[in-house]
Amino acid sequence: MNGYISSLPGTDFSPEGPRRLCLLGSTGSIGRSALAVVADHPEEFTVVALTGGRNVALLAEQAAAFRPSVLAVLGPDEARALAASLPSGYAPEILYGPEGFVAAATLAEVDVVLSAIVGAAGLAPTLAAVEAGKIVALANKESLVLAGDLIRRACARSGAVILPVDSEHNALFQSLAGHKGQYVDHLVLTASGGPFRTWPTEELAGVSAAQALKHPNWSMGAKISIDSATLMNKGLEVIEACHLYGLPQEKVKVLVHPQSIVHSLAAYRDGSFLAQLGQPDMRIAIAYCLCYPKRLPLNLEPLDLAALATLTFEHPRTDAFPCLALARQAQAGGQGYCVVLNAANEVAVDRFLRGQAAFADIARAVDWALDAYPGDPAPDLASILQLDQATRLQVADYLSGAS
Ligand code: NAD
Ligand code: MG
Repeated sequence: MNGYISSLPGTDFSPEGPRRLCLLGSTGSIGRSALAVVADHPEEFTVVALTGGRNVALLAEQAAAFRPSVLAVLGPDEARALAASLPSGYAPEILYGPEGFVAAATLAEVDVVLSAIVGAAGLAPTLAAVEAGKIVALANKESLVLAGDLIRRACARSGAVILPVDSEHNALFQSLAGHKGQYVDHLVLTASGGPFRTWPTEELAGVSAAQALKHPNWSMGAKISIDSATLMNKGLEVIEACHLYGLPQEKVKVLVHPQSIVHSLAAYRDGSFLAQLGQPDMRIAIAYCLCYPKRLPLNLEPLDLAALATLTFEHPRTDAFPCLALARQAQAGGQGYCVVLNAANEVAVDRFLRGQAAFADIARAVDWALDAYPGDPAPDLASILQLDQATRLQVADYLSGAS
């Protein structure tokens, strides 16, 4: 284990005054949970920038409540609509498009950037925040899947720090803290198994988006909920863990744990397993990253282990859920394959959510795209984004029956 992706802040890390935040994707599931933490602890935070996609009404509501000086949205139409929905006497700078998100993520007056845009759209602002040396609270796992090598190198250059918001990686971050990487034998990512964990394989092909969106334990955005149902989410998380903790994928194991209480485990060479447990509520990981190394009281339902009584673990059904193995295959292939894996998955999940593709088409499309990829290197941001776009077009054609 080569250590963390970046130098962690020392134990004396304690910026003066409130943390100055840019929340990328504030209208999403993670973004809303982050603002709930901020609202409960106004003395700890100043909200400098918020960004959203199409949900202008919610962004306007959040802006009116938290009064950031900078807002960013998808395009000029959303920017105009947003300006028209703000309270009188409050006139923040309104940016838009990819450049707008990058500008918000690199503002000089921001200390901590929460990266919570969904999908590949989160990469450019995340990389920009890293290059600007920010503390990056990273929810957007797709950034590391697409460009883990670039991000790691940028961290080393700029001194940026990545604190993992993804609950499993946050659990590992907590379980690894204070221990030497050389003593780690392997990591165990836990997975809920999703809504179809126990379903017969032959019934999976015909499941609907509504069924797949019903996650048993976590309340999340649509895309990650589908990724959880296919186990692609765990595949993306294996790649994410390899980049964060500098381990080969053989050292990153997956166990299904349907109760979602043990959020992941670090196994040491003396046979010790250290884990982090907690309610399945993203506010724990979000608050820990936004206010690190402070721990904030969060007023969650106390975790009653005696009432839960049983915590169970089982191996994932890799035959019924091929996406996990496809992600491992992509990781073994290298960066370009990971870009293709992610792009194909995003297109297929989008189609599935619109009712234009079957559940089984998601794994089928990803498998097809990985097979079709000639393996060209994707060494920089421009070539990664180009490969991402090209794969999206090919997979859209494939799913439309044109290939
Ligand atoms: P979500 O769909 O609820 O929210 C996504 C946010 O991104 C919204 O603010 C949306 O407006 C914005 N957005 C969407 N497309 C955009 C674009 N093209 N450009 C700019 N902004 C855009 O998603 P979420 O569930 O909050 O997940 C966000 C990220 O966090 C994902 O990468 C996900 O994998 C990761 N994550 C989420 C959870 C969870 O519990 N929800 C847990 C772990 C990791
Ligand atoms: Mg996770």
